Amino acid sequence: MAVAIIYDDIFLEHDTGAYHPENADRLRSIIRYLEPLRDELTWITPEPASYDQLCSVHTPAHIASVEHASMNLRAIDADTQTSEHSYEAALKAAGAGVSAIDAIMSGQASTAFAAVRPPGHHATKYQAMGFCLFNSIAIAARYAQSKGFEKVLIVDFDVHHGNGTQDIFYDDETVFYFSSHQYPAYPGSGSAQETGIGDGEGYTRNFPLTPGSGDEVLLPIYEEALPETLREFQPDIILVSAGYDLHHSDPLAQLNATTEGIGDIVSAIMESSPVPKLFFLEGGYDLDALGQSVAKTIQVMREYDKE
Ligand SMILES: [Zn+2]
Repeated sequence: MAVAIIYDDIFLEHDTGAYHPENADRLRSIIRYLEPLRDELTWITPEPASYDQLCSVHTPAHIASVEHASMNLRAIDADTQTSEHSYEAALKAAGAGVSAIDAIMSGQASTAFAAVRPPGHHATKYQAMGFCLFNSIAIAARYAQSKGFEKVLIVDFDVHHGNGTQDIFYDDETVFYFSSHQYPAYPGSGSAQETGIGDGEGYTRNFPLTPGSGDEVLLPIYEEALPETLREFQPDIILVSAGYDLHHSDPLAQLNATTEGIGDIVSAIMESSPVPKLFFLEGGYDLDALGQSVAKTIQVMREYDKE
């Protein structure tokens, strides 16, 4: 079976303005680096997320505020801009996980990579922030559960803590959130003491890392701690917030991973369990490091796919 790439040109139309690091050139670079593999991959155009799918995670007021901001070409905050087509792009980014899970269930793909923007892991139930409008991976988690994947593991290797994803599932024992990130850094959350609340106590695991940590510190998290979490939690599907701003070339952070190291992280995730896996693009702001790292990710996914 092939690896599916979920992509739509509408993602290029989410215009964040001049000099914004989260811009359409990011996806153009990824597509350019995937060009040599184009015919080996299954390309899927996503459907927009339905209103009910958005409501499985977000409040109606939040959904209306994103639509309103986009219609009025307004910034939501200093970091988070919208333009005419942002709402449509965000709906399709949120729908990418739905389309990927459908492709996995129909046997069209074994693993998928959603090459989407805007990113999602900072968006909370109530609020867009940190370049993110809707929390696409959270919407995918709820959709997966509606299709019988009861226990969902979300692994987040973006250099920033996915505060939105953590918050959404903080009291929920059916979705485990596992994250490594630079700390302290934007958005400020993600200490090791944040482990969940109520029924969700013990179902959040954070690995805050000091700047400059690099591959030697990152790899044991994925090669040792992740398998330990998998043995205990036994997920039915793994969703990955794949942010490439952990790369040493990234202009927004200093975690200093190499492209090879990122490949090893992806390899550890692929090897961790035979359940379906779905990756979502989150951050990554050095265009070449991003393109190379995504190509490396897809290459590793394909190696496991052949086995
Ligand atoms: Zn990030």
